[in-house]
Amino acid sequence: MKPRNKFEKAVLEQSKYLRPITKTQSKWAFRECIDHLAYRLPKGRTTCMDCGHSWVMNKHREACTCPHCRAKLQVKGTYERKLQQKQYFTILTTCGEFQVLRMFLLIVGMEKGYKAQTSIIEIGQYWWNMQGRKAVVAIQRVLGHYVDTFSYYSPMAIRNDNEAYQHIAYSPIFPKFKVTDILRRNGFKDNFYGIVPTQLIPALLTDSRVETLLKAGSTDHLRYFLGNRRTFEELWQSYKIAVRNGYDITDISLWSDYVDTLRRLGKDIHNPKYLCPTDLKTRQYKEPRKLKICMAYFLYL
Ligand SMILES: [Zn+2]
Ligand SMILES: [Zn+2]
Repeated sequence: MKPRNKFEKAVLEQSKYLRPITKTQSKWAFRECIDHLAYRLPKGRTTCMDCGHSWVMNKHREACTCPHCRAKLQVKGTYERKLQQKQYFTILTTCGEFQVLRMFLLIVGMEKGYKAQTSIIEIGQYWWNMQGRKAVVAIQRVLGHYVDTFSYYSPMAIRNDNEAYQHIAYSPIFPKFKVTDILRRNGFKDNFYGIVPTQLIPALLTDSRVETLLKAGSTDHLRYFLGNRRTFEELWQSYKIAVRNGYDITDISLWSDYVDTLRRLGKDIHNPKYLCPTDLKTRQYKEPRKLKICMAYFLYL
C-alpha cells in the first residue's frame, strides 16, 4: 500500500533507517524464545539439539546440562532426529521521533549431529509519533489457514493493521527497551505490567488518565480499564472520587460491577458513601455475581 498522507510518508521514510537486529538480540531470542532439548535414546545415547553434541546418560532425568555447550536442556525420550521451532518475538526501540515495536519471526532448525540453524525474519513494525498516531510498516499478510500467514518476500510497506500483526505484538519482548523521552515523561518505567505494547503505548501517549494510573502505581486497575474501555469511560469519575476518599479498591473488576449496578439502579455514583463499600470483598458472592451484589447493596444502602 502506498503511503496515504504525510504522516505515513514520514514513517516509511524513517523505517529505512532501522538497524539490523544485533547479536545480543538474536542470542536472547534463541535462548529465551524456544525450547532447548536433549533427545535421549532408550539405551542412553543423548544428543544436545542446540549444538549437536552427543554423550551417554545412563539414567533418564527431566533436565540436564550439555557437557559441550553448557546449555540447560529438557530431556525427551525419542527416536526423532530433527525438529523445527518457530516463535515470534518483539523489540521495543526508537527511530527518529517515533516509538517503534519491531516484530520478528525466529525459525530454528535442529538436527542430530549439527549445530542448530537460526534464521530471523522481520515481519514489520508498529510506529507511533509523539501524539500517539499509529502506522504499520510490514510485509504482506496473506489469508490462509492460519492467522499468521505472510508473503515473506513482499516488500516492507505501509499496511493496514490487522489481527495477524496484533497477534504477534503479544509475543515475548526483548527485555532491554529503547524509549522516547515523551513516553518516559508520561511515566513509562520499562514495564508493561501484562498489557500488550500496542495497547499501552498509544494509550500512554494520548490519555492523561493512563499516565495518572501508571504514576500512582495502580497497574492492576490500568490493565483492567484498558481491557474494558466502556467501563473506563463510564466509571472514571466515580473511580477518581473513590480514590480521593482514600478507598482502597482491592478487586477492580468486582468494584466496577458493583458501581455499574448502582448506576443502573439510578443511584448517585458520584457519592463517596456508595462508592466506598466497606465489605465488598469480604462477602462471599456466588454466581451470578452481578445480581447478588446488586441485591445485597441495594438493601444495604
Ligand atoms: Zn550442546
Ligand atoms: Zn498466540
